[in-house]
Amino acid sequence: MLLFAVLSLTLQSPQSVADSSPFRQLALPTASRIRSSSGAPGPDYWQQEASYTIRASLDTATSTLSGSERIHYVNHSPDSLPFVWMQIEQNIFAKNSVTYQLNQPPLQFPGGVSFDFTGQGFIGGITIDQLAAGGVPLTRTEYGTMMRVELPRPLAPGGAVDFDVDWRFPVPPYGGGRMGRVGNRLYELGQWYPRMVVYDDVRGWNPLPYIGAGEFYLEYGNFDVTLTLPAGYVLGATGTVANPEEVFSADTRARLEKARGSEQAVPIVTPAEATANGKRLTAGTKTWHLTATNVRDFAWCASPDYRWDASGYDGKLINTLYRPAAAPWLEANRMARFTIKYFSEQWYPYPWPQATTCEGPVEGMEYPAITFVPALPKREDQFWDLMHEFGHQWFPMVTGTDERRYPWMDEGFNSFIDYGAAAEYFKGTAYADTVWREVLWSARTATAPGAEKPMIDQPVEQQNLAWAAYQKPPLMLILLRDQVLGRETFTRALRDYIRRWAFKHPQPADFFRTMSNVSGTDLDWFWREWVFTTAHLDQAVDSVTPHGDSTYVYLSNRGEMVMPVTAELVHADGAKERVSLPVAMWYLSSRFTLRVASPSPLVGVTLDPDAIYPDQDRRNNVWKR
Ligand SMILES: [Zn+2]
Repeated sequence: MLLFAVLSLTLQSPQSVADSSPFRQLALPTASRIRSSSGAPGPDYWQQEASYTIRASLDTATSTLSGSERIHYVNHSPDSLPFVWMQIEQNIFAKNSVTYQLNQPPLQFPGGVSFDFTGQGFIGGITIDQLAAGGVPLTRTEYGTMMRVELPRPLAPGGAVDFDVDWRFPVPPYGGGRMGRVGNRLYELGQWYPRMVVYDDVRGWNPLPYIGAGEFYLEYGNFDVTLTLPAGYVLGATGTVANPEEVFSADTRARLEKARGSEQAVPIVTPAEATANGKRLTAGTKTWHLTATNVRDFAWCASPDYRWDASGYDGKLINTLYRPAAAPWLEANRMARFTIKYFSEQWYPYPWPQATTCEGPVEGMEYPAITFVPALPKREDQFWDLMHEFGHQWFPMVTGTDERRYPWMDEGFNSFIDYGAAAEYFKGTAYADTVWREVLWSARTATAPGAEKPMIDQPVEQQNLAWAAYQKPPLMLILLRDQVLGRETFTRALRDYIRRWAFKHPQPADFFRTMSNVSGTDLDWFWREWVFTTAHLDQAVDSVTPHGDSTYVYLSNRGEMVMPVTAELVHADGAKERVSLPVAMWYLSSRFTLRVASPSPLVGVTLDPDAIYPDQDRRNNVWKR
């Protein structure tokens, strides 16, 4: 015991000296057999399973959705659970919900897209008519969007319980930017059924309320969903149709089969058919049976007005559903197929049998194997929104992060891969070459003193969520790739992170450890400044002095952030050369002397000559004789 104490004392003292250094170690949670020190899931990694059998029907006269569901919940944790938590997120629209009380301003994106996280005054909320297990009613307490359910006896490790829940709610016209409807002609349904809160090895239950800015942290499982809708409605969903003979004509089935093998979009519902269908409003109902395997949520869209294009990629069906007036969607299927193929080849194969995107009023929202995207007049914006929502299939639908706490690992990682997709789709245009620079334009205003919070802070605490979740993280990863690790090393590490954590729940430390272990590079300094602080970069040329056959270039790092340096040197004879210095140049001091062997004197030095850093003061980047 004593020996151990002395040892830790000697280890302590150099560390306290290093506390003032930007290179001091990150304090990560202790690695374990659940989450290993290498960043991979450990041999004892576990997560819960939540599978759902849902029967729901939509009453379009009142726009009420009602359903009965059975939740099959398996406790793979080593803990006995005396109670469970469920999400009842329609209560964000209940009278006096936290969201209505807070009256948060909408999230504004460049380009005019805004997300209002409220129901814009709509008063709704879910009614739970029954909640039971094995026929025994369970005691429950509702806390806004969360509900605690008492179990008759603790659920033992390895045990399972089936919950039976009956519920109903009025579908809001505007559902916090994530769901909604257009009258009774078009429905986009998300957050519609009570679902299990994640129980994990890090925090136990995760019942953070749904306030609006934070999205969803969900368990994986299988879905068996039966939806009864008006007979003329065309449906898109997370699941695949299990009763095609009942819901599709022989003609439609033949078209779908053709589409599956086609790179070009095949009309499944033609414009003429959609127009006729919308006018006729077929009487009666139709019941759709859908199944989905290993997904963390289930969403759907339906309208009598939808036309439907489909194509195939790798045996998977790519569906685009849109109203005939949505002209920009004529290209949507091509955009959708490109996106699924591009991300599959770049990062991880798309895992589900189909991918659907629905046109409608929701400004852009993702669910497993389905997205809601509006029609946008500008082609680049249309592609970006459609592609971005599908990019979420990789983060967080496959890589199952905690979106409610860490949007930078979800919106941020997705936005990073999006810049690659946009550059490829618009290859050969100025837009393709420069689109990623929009994050640098944002940096100028977003990083003003007091204007930002560290990325690690919760989304509901961010004054500028567009920057913290969508722009700073891709800038961070672009610079990590291009300036610190190199493209090949970075790409291998990020691919490994996705592969290791596919269909699992990675935490920030798992990501940091994976990137360091796979790349062989200590990145503590990098994560601390980018993720845990609002450190700013300011690289400067202090002075330049010729001496003998050399020139000494005196550099300094004036901000709290350290990064490698690229310097462009201009010689007296007009020759230019570039010098790249690793971040280790700042190990000993915030000043560094670069010795340039040069028979002719230097006449100019420029740091960050391609202007790819968010350097706070560019005037001191340049020295001229
Ligand atoms: Zn997103």
